[in-house]
Amino acid sequence: MVVVAEGKASSLRLHEVSKSFPAPDDPLARHAALQNVSLSLAAGELVSLVGPSGCGKSTLLRLLAGLDSPDSGEVFIGSEPIKSPGAERGLVFQDPSLFPWLTVRGNIEAGLVARHVLHEKRHEVDEFMRLVGLEGFANAYPHHLSGGMAQRVALARALVNHPKALLLDEPLGALDAFTRMRMQDEVLRLWQARGTTMLLVTHDIDEAIYMSNRIVIMTQRPGRIEQTISIALERPRDRSHQNFLRLRGDILELLHFAGNASIENKS
Ligand code: ADP
Ligand code: MG
Repeated sequence: MVVVAEGKASSLRLHEVSKSFPAPDDPLARHAALQNVSLSLAAGELVSLVGPSGCGKSTLLRLLAGLDSPDSGEVFIGSEPIKSPGAERGLVFQDPSLFPWLTVRGNIEAGLVARHVLHEKRHEVDEFMRLVGLEGFANAYPHHLSGGMAQRVALARALVNHPKALLLDEPLGALDAFTRMRMQDEVLRLWQARGTTMLLVTHDIDEAIYMSNRIVIMTQRPGRIEQTISIALERPRDRSHQNFLRLRGDILELLHFAGNASIENKS
């Protein structure tokens, strides 16, 4: 029986956020990446962010992570303005980027070591390894892991900090279809067990419908929020149910009419 203390989830909010970058072809010009984006996630909500490649999804996540700051507008976790990265906001990217010289255990512990809290938190590392089904691999090195296992280590590494919010940037994008579906269930199980607020960037409409409370659709660059769709389907969701398929059709049509017909497979 896995016993992991309940993390307290936090709301996330962007208020009229704009962000631009130097244009690649003209150092004096700037390209808008996000334009006046407002978005709120309630504590414990799972929201997917969908939109064409280059529309600013990763930029939006980096602002919430505190890795970058907006040109204008404000970003909050709970009632706290976000000014820098913090352990209460976990991040998982498409590339799990594990330390190759550390074992599975070492990778999961790395953040605790950096924060000088390993001594009192060591027992939790085992709990999180069990939670993501890696208890038999504690001493394995990353090059011995499959893509799905490496991504589970990345999830455990983020979760061991008890994040109040988890920011997921196409975390399953590099996995084959079967592993991906299993990992979707894994992430949902973690979400249900821990109640963490999750913002999931994905280019996969089925994944967004299968997982989310809400889907936020962004426009082509400069990214704006085109529409938000609440997903009221019962869980666990059935990908072949007619309501699921109808929703899928509606969203694809919406993306088409929004001028986003080509949700690309890469970002
Ligand atoms: P997405 O994740 O939706 O594919 P990104 O957020 O990565 O999009 O990028 C949005 C836009 O901002 C793109 O045009 C990208 O080239 C630009 N951009 C992102 N980060 C930087 C950066 N550090 N420097 C310059 N341009 C950037
Ligand atoms: Mg991206």
